[in-house]
This record gives sequence, C-alpha cells and structure tokens, in this order.
Amino acid sequence: MDKTLLTILACPNCKGSLTYQKDQQALACPVCRLAYPIRDDIPVMLINEARVLAPDEKI
Ligand SMILES: [Zn+2]
Repeated sequence: MDKTLLTILACPNCKGSLTYQKDQQALACPVCRLAYPIRDDIPVMLINEARVLAPDEKI
C-alpha cells in the first residue's frame, strides 16, 4: 500500500491517525482499537466494516 495514504487517512470515528498493519492488511486506530480492512489496496474506512482489536493485540 502507498504509505503516503497513511498521512491522508484518518480514523472515521475519532479523526486520529492510523497505523498500518502489514501482516493483517489493515489500518488500525490505537484510540478506538478498530482495524479497518484494506481490500485490493483500497482502505475501507467504514466503522461498520472495521474489526475490533483484541485487548492484547499489539498495534
Ligand atoms: Zn479512532
């Protein structure tokens, strides 16, 4: 994924910055503890599509 996208994208829930999870192909919000999936190199920035991170999951 294009890393410059990360500087543009923000969490739709809290507007905070996101962390790219390469092994998960997702963008994670450490504040909301949600992971937004990346499908075909396109981040899906929808709260109802996001995965809730497990409490012990490292971001
Ligand atoms: Zn957030």
